[in-house]
Amino acid sequence: MQKRLYILSNRLPLTIEKEGAAYTYRQSSGGLISAVGAYLNKEGKEDFAEKYWVGVPGCTEKVWNSVPDKENGDYKYVPVFVNNKTYDYYYNGFSNSLIWPLFHYFPSYADYRQSYFDAYLEVNRTFAEQMASVLKEDDIVWIHDYHLLPLAGLLRNKFPNLTIGFFLHIPFPSFELFRVIPKRWQREILSGMLGADLIGFHTADYSRHFLNCVEKIFDIQHDGDFILRDNRKIKVSALPIGIDYEMFNNAYNDIEVIKKRAEYLRLKQDKKLIFSVDRLDYTKGIYNRLKGYDQFLKQNPEYVGKVVFALVVVPSRDTIGKYAEKKKDIDEYIGDLNSRYGDIGSQPILYQYGHLSFDELVGLYTACDLALITPLRDGMNLVSKEFIATRKDKHGVLVLSEMAGAAHELNNALLINPNDYYEIADKIKYGLEMKPEEQERRIMAMQKQVEENDVNSWAKQFFYQMKEVKDIQGRLH
Ligand code: UDP
Repeated sequence: MQKRLYILSNRLPLTIEKEGAAYTYRQSSGGLISAVGAYLNKEGKEDFAEKYWVGVPGCTEKVWNSVPDKENGDYKYVPVFVNNKTYDYYYNGFSNSLIWPLFHYFPSYADYRQSYFDAYLEVNRTFAEQMASVLKEDDIVWIHDYHLLPLAGLLRNKFPNLTIGFFLHIPFPSFELFRVIPKRWQREILSGMLGADLIGFHTADYSRHFLNCVEKIFDIQHDGDFILRDNRKIKVSALPIGIDYEMFNNAYNDIEVIKKRAEYLRLKQDKKLIFSVDRLDYTKGIYNRLKGYDQFLKQNPEYVGKVVFALVVVPSRDTIGKYAEKKKDIDEYIGDLNSRYGDIGSQPILYQYGHLSFDELVGLYTACDLALITPLRDGMNLVSKEFIATRKDKHGVLVLSEMAGAAHELNNALLINPNDYYEIADKIKYGLEMKPEEQERRIMAMQKQVEENDVNSWAKQFFYQMKEVKDIQGRLH
């Protein structure tokens, strides 16, 4: 018999907008939404009796109720309402000023306010209470990401037999990093995660770090895959997320993408084009990237005027101080580089601070000679996989930080340490001069990897493993 599925994430995948005096809504985009949405739309369409998406809607209850027909065909929305101040402390506070920096190895950026933690727990409890009124023991619940770490545990207290999966979309840090959090918070976070039956991470390293923390903090044993806690088996698994390969690969021949590509190819003339895109985030290594590019131009003056770097930075979390600070540094460095190496007719960096449409994004992925992706730490990095998938022409070079989760799979990229400007400079040069045969060989190997491990196979694996762990639990009793 088919079961009901509940997807739980911080935000609902829609944005409510004011149009005149009335409110309307549009579907929003983003990594998690496109990943889970792609599966629910295609292969997972028939797998569940009913599908629901639970999250904060970003508007008041009154506004929510005034917007008609909010079902999207694939799933129904379940809104969780939280007041503005609590949401701010939970989201900008605990989630993005403590967990985000700490889990990305920026402990000096972490802000340890008790009021943030209190709000974080309060929002997770609100999710749990709301779910308690709709859930049945035989439903399947899939919780996503670092905003909802305690939630599985809160649900488990109410529903001992519920099927709960949890997936973390960011890195899980080593014990030496995790232990700097106050002990009582450590325990809440880990107990919360252990409420799930299946706990998924992007890489085996993150799984290992988690198991190590559980072992050290709770003194619980594990066998590398399974933990036994309160007589319940819990599976910990490395399940690297994929992309909608088919969509990105087919986009190469979309008419609008072709037009955009032609526009960018005209713009670059006979120069080499380097491209990067990321949210403005200190984890993305944008400043280091500029240093590497600077070093490349310093070491190879013959390239000045012959190469152009299209650097797109997407606004993100701009109410958090550290983000605004970084933007200033980046803006200044770009100005400095352009004034040192450029003139009125030619600039070494073309900079856009803003969003790209899908056609622009794929236009740039497919017009560039080299994608330069240099995060200091990144749970996965979907941009690198998307770039590979779009290159139907089998050309283009990927320079990728070894600190990105994606580097484990994309080992045919030119891997760099983002703190080594000389290495970035050398790999840019090597990449720009790489023979077409080598480009093709590397791209084809990576395309095979990204195609075989696409988002559908990721979601399917996750559901398969949830079922597997439930079967194992059933045999234990
Ligand atoms: N992206 C976007 N708008 C843009 C540029 C990029 O939505 O203007 C998408 C991009 O296609 C990718 C995602 O944002 O799917 C970024 O994912 P990634 O894992 O690289 O980084 P994150 O932002 O999740 O840390």
